[in-house]
Amino acid sequence: MIMNTLPIIENNIWQPEFECMRRDDLEALQLQRLKKAVQRASALPFYQEKLPAEKLTADSIRSLDDLRRLPMTTKADLRDNYPLGFMGVTRNEIARYQGTSGTTGKPTWVAYTQQDVVNWSNLCARFLVAGGLKREHTVQLSFGFGLFTGGFGLHFGIEQVGAAIIPISSGNSERQLMCMLDLQPEILICTPSYALKLMDTLGQGDIDRSKLNLKHAFFGGEPWTENMRTRIEEGMGIRCWNNYGLAEIQGPGVSGECAYRNGMHFQEDQFIFEVVDPQTLEPLPDGERGEIVITPLVREGFPLLRYRTRDIGFIYNDGECPCGRTSRRMSRILGRTDDMLIIRGVNVFPSQIETALLKIDSLAPHYMIEVSRPEAMDEVTVHIEMRPEMFSDSMIEMQNIRREISGAIAQVTGLHIKVNLVSPNTLERFEGKARRVIDHRKLVD
Ligand SMILES: [Zn+2]
Repeated sequence: MIMNTLPIIENNIWQPEFECMRRDDLEALQLQRLKKAVQRASALPFYQEKLPAEKLTADSIRSLDDLRRLPMTTKADLRDNYPLGFMGVTRNEIARYQGTSGTTGKPTWVAYTQQDVVNWSNLCARFLVAGGLKREHTVQLSFGFGLFTGGFGLHFGIEQVGAAIIPISSGNSERQLMCMLDLQPEILICTPSYALKLMDTLGQGDIDRSKLNLKHAFFGGEPWTENMRTRIEEGMGIRCWNNYGLAEIQGPGVSGECAYRNGMHFQEDQFIFEVVDPQTLEPLPDGERGEIVITPLVREGFPLLRYRTRDIGFIYNDGECPCGRTSRRMSRILGRTDDMLIIRGVNVFPSQIETALLKIDSLAPHYMIEVSRPEAMDEVTVHIEMRPEMFSDSMIEMQNIRREISGAIAQVTGLHIKVNLVSPNTLERFEGKARRVIDHRKLVD
């Protein structure tokens, strides 16, 4: 990848004393903090069981390479120790509980001390400022407030910076647009799929885009693609910034883009990042895609070692970023180990299909992937909306578009799949995370 040489916006840095540390100072700080993190974790029965006690002391960590000797932690481990088997302090010291929705019906509870909340706010402030947030701005925060870490996490980050917050939460697109018109926020925060929905509503309603003051949006909460960014930036006339985080580790603020927008800077003074092969769990060199594994270094309420995120990405290996931050940068999330589809033996990520679809002009960015196994063979159908102006009564024209799409998907995935073109505005829209895959095979298993 060729490094951008010009920043897209002003290059502002919230905590340069940490974000721009010399690499050797940063690694010395990581080592010191890793010892402390191991000490905290060693108080938990889960980690005591995983390793003999004599190996789980701060003294046994002599270099950052010793991290590899530590056990990994999975989502299933958190579930098995429900509700709070990983809590690192007594209940009296907890200042906040957040949670993630689980497929089993019970959330994963995550606990924060007062200090964890302060750190979290600063980490959110780091990526918000890096992406253009200023004290004088107003932010429309359209993430759900509640157990989901997006709402309150960002709220406190914006407060740190001193900007104004409209905590409007998610839902009700007309009301969201009315708010944008009446209160003139410069910044929008939501999931990328919700931004698409707002873009649709804006296109259909009678609000004039030029009357809005919106300049930037920060998207998180689900994987999205570079083509999706282009669509939203062109459709809404704003700049969209990517950031990454997950509740088990903290929430948003784990990494985010800077003014050069060439990957997301890891907050390496507070986390250690690894990319591993999801099957063998062996570490992969920078540049290779694999599962992201994170060790939080300063978390008190919920100290985890080597947490397997199930998110697939890679670390850039093109040297330091011109913004002045010394931390390494991660790619956008390319998929999840658990939403990877295995179709006729081939690994396919929904994001690959999305990348292919969004390159074709006649399509709207709304699609649904349906997988079934009618007989012995897997069958995939992609349902995708046409843009209204491209919809045609001509069978031949529609046939050509279908052929173009299936060719584009075959090029990325190597698979031939069925394409079903549908009328504009017929597929479901999402206010939170999008559900774009229906896998009927799982229902039979
Ligand atoms: Zn940078």
